[in-house]
Amino acid sequence: MAITKIHARSVYDSRGNPTVEVDVTTETGLHRAIVPSGASTGIHEALELRDKEKAWGGKGVLKAVANVNDVIAPALIAANIDVADQLAIDEFMLKLDGTPNKAKLGANAILGVSLAVAKAAAAQKSVPLYAHIAELAGSTNPVVLPVPFLNVLNGGSHAGGRLAFQEFMIAPVGASSFSEALQQGSEVYHILKKLTVKSYGQSAGNVGDEGGVAPDIQTPKEALDLITDAIEAAGYTGKVKIALDVASSEFYKDGKYDLDFKNPESDPTKWLTGEQLGELYAQLIKDYPIVSIEDPFAEDDWEAWSLFYKTTDIQIVGDDLTVTNPLRIKTAIEKKAANALLLKVNQIGTLSESIQAAKDSFEAGWGVMVSHRSGETEDVTIADIVVGLQTGEIKTGAPARGERLAKLNQLLRIEEELGDKAVYAGDKFRTARLL
Ligand code: PGA
Ligand code: ZN
Repeated sequence: MAITKIHARSVYDSRGNPTVEVDVTTETGLHRAIVPSGASTGIHEALELRDKEKAWGGKGVLKAVANVNDVIAPALIAANIDVADQLAIDEFMLKLDGTPNKAKLGANAILGVSLAVAKAAAAQKSVPLYAHIAELAGSTNPVVLPVPFLNVLNGGSHAGGRLAFQEFMIAPVGASSFSEALQQGSEVYHILKKLTVKSYGQSAGNVGDEGGVAPDIQTPKEALDLITDAIEAAGYTGKVKIALDVASSEFYKDGKYDLDFKNPESDPTKWLTGEQLGELYAQLIKDYPIVSIEDPFAEDDWEAWSLFYKTTDIQIVGDDLTVTNPLRIKTAIEKKAANALLLKVNQIGTLSESIQAAKDSFEAGWGVMVSHRSGETEDVTIADIVVGLQTGEIKTGAPARGERLAKLNQLLRIEEELGDKAVYAGDKFRTARLL
């Protein structure tokens, strides 16, 4: 089936910044995707095209929108590729762009088309989007619901306050279904909010970019104590585990890690070496039920990653390190730097390359956590991606704020639709593809 029309427009994301929305029309109607946007972006990500003019403080996406409407749309419609041939369409756009990091057209322009095309193809086949993605990826059993890694306490570049670590997540691995996991997560979240307000005052219950509470605390220990207390008070000790996204590239300075990076008068003599930061992680892993740490070290501090890898069995997730890019993933596998991929579609810019990134990671025995961005929208495609690729783990913020719940609610719908066939990844989240 042919694409008859492609139209892009500028809409807004959850931070109120412009982002690209694309409508792809075929005989089955109109199919829409909206592109997300990060704050703690890795330097190796594909290029997100921003206008860099006075309007919207430089964050306008009118050039990316024009690239869809004036460049991609006429060329792709003229090429007359079947909308179900995702790979051919994505490769066509890669060629049209012609740069290694999508700098000409913008990864935001290309991704909007790529995701809307996938939705159009699912409609053409009259199958749910996750089933279509499973077919594209060659997944054999797309019935696995992921563990939701719920970012209940926000720090780093996603919140005010002094806390350097960006994300403190709870992972209800002991639940028996996705809906039960979300219930447990929601209960813990609300208790955490009460405890946070009790200890740190009313304003500490205000939420950060991803819906987690954002108390003005300084140390990871304070955050972890609050969270373990909340898990215990909810009655889920042993069932609900903890994960971190340190996003440490944000506070890597002169070869060291500044845990006081939001203080302009931070004392450089207190900055930690990679080895010292690794020792801090080892202590935290000993003291708390931590099952996963993302970006423990900076995006090019390969040595620190490889050193830490040897010391632990928990999941070590590459985000800024690997940027969903098959070339960076290959290097990380070779260097034994991580054992899991954070999969963000807008880091690489097409669905086909995202699928390839997941496959390469699986082949190396890695886990794959599908992820939102801190700037999100009502688009729920990643919920279908995580089921379609059968990765068994997703992070999409706290169980609060509409743009975060949109994905979690879509997973509730998918679980209901699958009925008896649905399998919850639970404590097998790192190897869910084998379920
Ligand atoms: P970002 O944060 O979307 O701001 O990059 C998410 C993450 O670091 O995982
Ligand atoms: Zn991250």
